[in-house]
Amino acid sequence: MSKWLAEYAWLPERAEPTRDVLIEVVDGRFTAVTPLGHGGSPTAGVEVLGDAVRLPGLTLPGLANAHSHAFHRALRGRTHDGRGDFWSWRSLMYAIATRLDPDSYLALARATYAEMALAGITCVGEFHYLHHGPGGTPYADPNAMSDALVEAAAHAGIRLTLLDTAYLAGGVDGTPLAGPQRRFGDGDALRWAERVDAFRPSDDHVRLGAAIHSVRAVPAEQLATVAGWADRNGLPLHVHLSEQPAENDACRAVHGCTPTRLLSDHGVLGRHTTAVHATHPTAADVALLGESRTGVCLCPTTERDLADGIGPARRMADAGSPLSLGSDSHAVVDLFEEARAVELDERLRTRARGHFSPAALLTAATVGGHAALGWGDAGRLAVGQRADLVTVRLDSARTAGVPPVGAFFAATAADVTHVMVDGRPVVADGRHLTVDVATEMADAVAAVTA
Ligand SMILES: [Zn+2]
Repeated sequence: MSKWLAEYAWLPERAEPTRDVLIEVVDGRFTAVTPLGHGGSPTAGVEVLGDAVRLPGLTLPGLANAHSHAFHRALRGRTHDGRGDFWSWRSLMYAIATRLDPDSYLALARATYAEMALAGITCVGEFHYLHHGPGGTPYADPNAMSDALVEAAAHAGIRLTLLDTAYLAGGVDGTPLAGPQRRFGDGDALRWAERVDAFRPSDDHVRLGAAIHSVRAVPAEQLATVAGWADRNGLPLHVHLSEQPAENDACRAVHGCTPTRLLSDHGVLGRHTTAVHATHPTAADVALLGESRTGVCLCPTTERDLADGIGPARRMADAGSPLSLGSDSHAVVDLFEEARAVELDERLRTRARGHFSPAALLTAATVGGHAALGWGDAGRLAVGQRADLVTVRLDSARTAGVPPVGAFFAATAADVTHVMVDGRPVVADGRHLTVDVATEMADAVAAVTA
């Protein structure tokens, strides 16, 4: 058993953190989460706690990054030439994709996931579509690239939901894949399912999920095949949705309806489905998503980096869609920044404050993300849950003087001091215990950009 004494800990259903909480862990699960007092001295309980390790600052449940493309990390800071819009960014992204193989993918993903661990992320959803070798030729093991991601997460010490992504066409009109996109394709949805069926990772830190890249990349008549596969296997299903108005326009031109309506008509929406972005839904789309309890994963730092726009987060939550957060392109890996951006972007749009409480932002960053990734037993500091802890210092230049409840509006990833995943320490005193993140990142990025 290990024992931890959190100076402050954010317990489930609480509007703000609680002082002096004793946390006990056995075999990777919380066995006791006990508030010790009623506002007494933070050291009051220490004498009776014996070997408990003190965690100064604010301790949170593990943060879940519900939307990641690990290899996009190599693009950070490189996409500002010319106008640098979504489509020019995408062509640079394809150039990196062309250069990756299982070894360089492992190195880049390992450094990226270790950066996430440093930021307090204990679980990541990898939206993985870089399946095959150059030109689309499968590797000897057609899931070699998936294996690289599983190994990368193990090295970084975080859990992974591998969202194996069907990417079959180059446009809403069914244009065949061309150039770099050919590495993404399995031919059709049945062959995608055959390949994924052959991939059954048994490691404890990984679970499988499915993804439809978008209505641009999976023809309408094949959407139900992917959705049915996820449903039969009881796995989460993710889909990029209406990130760009151009996607809506193309879908209306070809199918006479919005992407959300198309997904709904083909059985894609539902409580096990997460729509990523949903930046440009119509009012009817918001209702379809909410009524079906489809989750929405917001990626505010990527959406602002790519000039996508601001999704109607408050309206979607009110309609019934649970929210989660993702760092997506990894222009920034900082879920505190993603979380406060949900509120701050809404303020910019409405010129009013107070749309999401700090506790609501915490929920999106923790239990919301874990649920979207199929880990219903993580994201809360409660008995029986997976023992994930993230401690944020409250004595840095950024956080000194900030009340604990205000941490989501003040802290950055750099303020994370301790991270535990499934009861195992991964980060201590702000350092990753097994990966030299900066050095490995520099080498991994150089290998695919030089
Ligand atoms: Zn994405």
